[in-house]
Amino acid sequence: MNISIIGTGYVGLVTGVGLAELGNTVTCVDIDGARILSLNGGQVPFYEEGLKVLLSNNLEAERLSFTTDITNAVRTSSIVFIAVGTPSKQSGEADLSQIIQVAESIVECITDYKVIVLKSTVPVGTVEVICRILKQRIHEGKDFDIIVNPEFLREGKAIYDFFHPARIIIGGRSSKAIELMQQLYAPFLSPDFEESKRQFDEVKLGRNTPLIKTDIASAQMIKYSSNAFLATRISFINEIASICERLGANVKEVARGMGYDTRIGHEYMEAGIGFGGACLEKDLTALMKIGENYNYEPALLKAVLEKNEYQVRLLINKLKELTDSLLYHKTIAVFGLAFKAETSDVRNSVSLRIIEQLEKEGARIKAHDPVAIEEARKLKPAIQYCNDPYDAIDNAEALLILSDWSQYRELDFTSIKKRMKSPNIVDGRNVLDPGKMIDTGFRYKGIGV
Ligand code: NAD
Repeated sequence: MNISIIGTGYVGLVTGVGLAELGNTVTCVDIDGARILSLNGGQVPFYEEGLKVLLSNNLEAERLSFTTDITNAVRTSSIVFIAVGTPSKQSGEADLSQIIQVAESIVECITDYKVIVLKSTVPVGTVEVICRILKQRIHEGKDFDIIVNPEFLREGKAIYDFFHPARIIIGGRSSKAIELMQQLYAPFLSPDFEESKRQFDEVKLGRNTPLIKTDIASAQMIKYSSNAFLATRISFINEIASICERLGANVKEVARGMGYDTRIGHEYMEAGIGFGGACLEKDLTALMKIGENYNYEPALLKAVLEKNEYQVRLLINKLKELTDSLLYHKTIAVFGLAFKAETSDVRNSVSLRIIEQLEKEGARIKAHDPVAIEEARKLKPAIQYCNDPYDAIDNAEALLILSDWSQYRELDFTSIKKRMKSPNIVDGRNVLDPGKMIDTGFRYKGIGV
């Protein structure tokens, strides 16, 4: 099928590359000309494991191209995905300006029937906003139909997630459009899709994926509710961690013991500095606003957010307990800058929030991250970045571990202790073994351990 994807960020690019790999002809559109130029040259704008090789393969096979020309891209496709950003407004509501801009751009280009697919996370009511814009010139059902097909990929595992979706959600009112979407996703649905149809074999496909055909409002609520639930799990286990600390229990053991219950599971049950990133907090606050706009007081969701904000203060307090409350002119080493391991995405990173607090208190920061230094530098140019974690800890009065890259576990902590001015560690992700750290001579604080 011929497909265009409007918005070539984390979601748009992964979707575009993935659909091309499945044999479709895909044109990705973005207003960022520099990004388009480098993508056409095979350069990926962010770190995502496995993405570069799939990008190069599909560019070479001429099934994938990148352009700023939305008109031509839309005209030549039967399915148009919208994957632009929906950031938070000051009020917490989703900002739909990028979506509206896309709707206004595509209305001019639609000359025959298109299925317009909302991949972006959008609140209930957005489809009506788009319809109003399109219906000024063209007709729903004859010229276009709209499908809501939310995305659930995890940054850092986005390629795996594209090829192994846990479920595919299709919200819509047109059976013709739903049928086309089913054809597009057929490789994931059937147990016997011919692998030989694919030119490359970088990743195996998920099979028998559940397909949920539903109404538009439910499809949108599935996405918001999923993210709110994941956020709730994180705040829940952080709450348990705070209680464990007071009792001398170990939250890692508690989560492990709970997780074997199939009703509970192990995922998103790691106590730490809380959730950050481009989605969880944004979608949680948007859902709270949706509730409030419909006269509902989302007390539980508010508590989830408050607990998350508390985790930053908790970490700074732990640091102060180890450094006699004074951070002024102290050198603090930070491991981890992105919002989690395996990604260079620093949007709404809790690590950067913590660094901001430390700077306010006059601390000097030396920071390491395996892949996110360049992105962090754009937001925080004044701190000292180190490409080698051992350089970051030289002369430091404390080390903060803020992301759970496995390489941090494997460092030589005997040598680290020798290089630090004071052997203090606050492990905001419970990456290290507390007993071993104490035996090595560190003053160690984790979260609930
Ligand atoms: P992003 O900011 O990385 O990418 C958005 C892209 O859209 C940018 O490259 C921007 O230049 C482009 N754009 C903006 N306006 C445009 C226009 N008028 N025409 C063409 N391009 C335009 O965003 P993202 O992280 O990929 O998220 C996109 C959507 O998917 C959001 O609604 C988000 O909530 C949702 N989502 C994100 C993730 C994730 O992990 N990042 C996961 C699931 C869902």
